[in-house]
Amino acid sequence: MITLALSKGRIFDETLPLLKAAGIEVLEDPEKSRKLILPTNQASVRVVLVRASDVPTYVEYGGADLGVTGLDTLIEHGGQGLYQPLDLNIAKCRMSVAVRADDDYAALVRTGARLKVATKYTAIARDFFATKGVHVDLIKLYGSMELAPLTGLADAIVDLVSTGNTLKANHLVEVERIMDISSRLVVNQAALKLKQAPIRAIIDAFAGAVKKD
Ligand code: AMP
Repeated sequence: MITLALSKGRIFDETLPLLKAAGIEVLEDPEKSRKLILPTNQASVRVVLVRASDVPTYVEYGGADLGVTGLDTLIEHGGQGLYQPLDLNIAKCRMSVAVRADDDYAALVRTGARLKVATKYTAIARDFFATKGVHVDLIKLYGSMELAPLTGLADAIVDLVSTGNTLKANHLVEVERIMDISSRLVVNQAALKLKQAPIRAIIDAFAGAVKKD
């Protein structure tokens, strides 16, 4: 049995064409079913639905043989024990710093005072500001980060930006682009050895179906 870990939503939807290229069709719609294990047209392949931030953990410990996860989630996890053969070029966005539209970010940084930064992505934020030589107090949040600068909880946020509409709707502006994000295929290293032929076949089919920019 080959088990693939996916999260519902954009990653699931954008992985379907890649699966199709590998001859795999998921037989149930996760938006309509409450099942967490979805069968496919291949009796030896199944999909498990997990929270996006849990995909690397499932694959690391062998709860799934493969998974699809955002680079953001992968960096926060650390990537230990994971073979990362492919950038799937899906679920693309960027990791950015944003502040209130009426704040002067450059001036805030110039004062040398510690910057309060709210984010779910503490590893990425810590590394980014350390490289810049800016002292920060990181405030870990799990969602609605846009609220933090509006309520005075933080001076800035580090979050994913796609169209920029969420920032705009909350009167925030993007002031630094930290990195481009896309989703990656991750594989359990022991599974790659034990189930080499079927896993290689999936990796090769995905590689052939990845859309270039
Ligand atoms: P947008 O308004 O299009 O800039 O989207 C920003 C919101 O969607 C933020 O709350 C992000 O956390 C979330 N978001 C955007 N792109 C992604 C992605 N590829 N994966 C996960 N969350 C995303």
